[in-house]
Amino acid sequence: MPETRSNAARAPVEAIPGYPAGHPVAPNMGDYAAFRGGFSWDQARRELDGLPAGGLNIAHEAVDRHAAGSRKEHVALRWLGRNGAVQEFSYADLSKLSNRFANVLQGLGVGAGERVYVLTGRIPELYIAALGAWKNRSVVCTLFSAFGPEPIRARMALGDARVLLTTPTLYERKVVPILNLLPGLRHVLLVRGPDNEPVAAGTLDFAELLGRADERFSIAATDPEEPALLHFTSGTTGTPKGAVHAHEAVLTHHATGKLVLDLHPEDVFWCTADPGWVTGTSYGIIAPLTNGVTSIVDEADFDVERWCQILEQHRVSVWYTAPTAIRMMMKTGLAPLAGRKLPALRYLASVGEPLNPEAVRWGVTAFGLPFHDNWWQTETGGIMIANFPALDVRPGSMGVPVPGIEAGIVRHNADGSVTQLDEPGTEGELALRPGWPSMFREYLNEPERYAKCFADGWYLTGDLARRDADGYFWFVGRKDDVIKTSGHLIGPFEVESVLLEHPAVAEAGVIGKPDPVALEVVKAFVALKTGYTPSDALKKDIMAHARKRLGAVVAPKEIDFQQSLPKTRSGKIMRRLLKARELGLPEGDVSTLESM
Ligand code: AMP
Repeated sequence: MPETRSNAARAPVEAIPGYPAGHPVAPNMGDYAAFRGGFSWDQARRELDGLPAGGLNIAHEAVDRHAAGSRKEHVALRWLGRNGAVQEFSYADLSKLSNRFANVLQGLGVGAGERVYVLTGRIPELYIAALGAWKNRSVVCTLFSAFGPEPIRARMALGDARVLLTTPTLYERKVVPILNLLPGLRHVLLVRGPDNEPVAAGTLDFAELLGRADERFSIAATDPEEPALLHFTSGTTGTPKGAVHAHEAVLTHHATGKLVLDLHPEDVFWCTADPGWVTGTSYGIIAPLTNGVTSIVDEADFDVERWCQILEQHRVSVWYTAPTAIRMMMKTGLAPLAGRKLPALRYLASVGEPLNPEAVRWGVTAFGLPFHDNWWQTETGGIMIANFPALDVRPGSMGVPVPGIEAGIVRHNADGSVTQLDEPGTEGELALRPGWPSMFREYLNEPERYAKCFADGWYLTGDLARRDADGYFWFVGRKDDVIKTSGHLIGPFEVESVLLEHPAVAEAGVIGKPDPVALEVVKAFVALKTGYTPSDALKKDIMAHARKRLGAVVAPKEIDFQQSLPKTRSGKIMRRLLKARELGLPEGDVSTLESM
């Protein structure tokens, strides 16, 4: 990997105050350097309760400890239905409902360590099920409901799903076609909608089971190292990787909720991420609840007008969203905000993709507040690098490491050793010192893939970055071919495999094509089998096949036909070259290219 010095080390520094001047609520962390110096994870642990029976359990920290104290009637979740319904759940409500679900699981004979999958939209039952499963010491795996049957099958098979909670519609459309490929799946629980559709044969009615269950439950002693969460993430090759997180992760969720998102007890917090992705569980379920705030859950998809209305009507004070959404709002302009009063809004944060400096500044224009970018990934389980309220925001930078986290820029050498690249502005791989509480404990059933992420006392993130002279980190790009589209990480291999199922496709190579709003869109290059000729109709047919199997978010948005695809002599498709050609960039080292 080339080491380059950039202007980032020398460029004039633009700084925007991180916190509204004179705001009546003081930030939780007033002095970053002092706080960082005195921080330890043991100290963070003391802010949590621990289980009466012993150990640490996410659900106890998230709901039961509040339900047992003065915050029991405080609204924990305010759910906004797609069609205007609003439902509120206090901490006491959530505690009892999750107790019921824990009893349902016990009644079904589902034990500790077994995997409970949830495939629903953002509905209250998802949150109840996750909390109840943690109480039962089962492992929660939430799947993105926009996935097609193939990504769902792959993830359920890899994780040996024992229970699935879903809706009748998703079950019919996406699960029935793959049911015979999931021999380990024992129970399917359906959440019926307002029309009370009948539940299919062989499935159970979630509401009925919950209604019959006892609302008392004692969480058994939980070792903090017990697995709690399974989140799939994509690599360049092979199957999706199942990153496993332990109950101890709650320390990071709680501490970063407090220090990075600056959650205070009276906050109304809105994390717009879907729990099918890690942000939606760590910060859409766990962190707001452990911090005892009111968390907004919106069932509907992104809509500028609706989002502005939610910010105003529900007096959101802390808002955690993503660059694609911000860029879409920027595109619409300020009209949806005209005449709205947002006096409660105090703090804006963003994650998932690089946040361009214009977007940070647009926050100031539109809301009088900058967006605070922060960085992390499925494997890290929680925020690792952030712009903090106590510091100026540097537009375009991901910020500085969270207290308790040591980050570096390194070169991973061929002999396995790691060289730290400490000179400011040097580009290298972003690496973290292992050992923080929410660090993934394994890639499910893939110890070698897991071991490859670590070298010489560092966890290697796969991202390229630079650090400036003041310690701020700047994102450069990814080391691999994984695609980020609208904040979702897509593995090209998963898409290529489905394209190859089409009878006309001989070869497929998939890249991320830069896009001004979504960051990248999935683009496929396809070579056809003998006897097939390129046509618009064939393109549509391949596209339809991909959408049906993968779902719209994962399927390619564009397909180009090629005579044949560039390959290495060992037959690997050279995505890097496809991308360089697509962008009109130099082709770089092509010494391994098979002659065509
Ligand atoms: P995921 O595991 O799906 O959450 O994706 C994690 C990846 O998203 C990281 O490894 C980065 O490549 C990218 N990412 C997340 N946050 C940021 C950010 N603030 N700036 C740039 N890239 C980011």
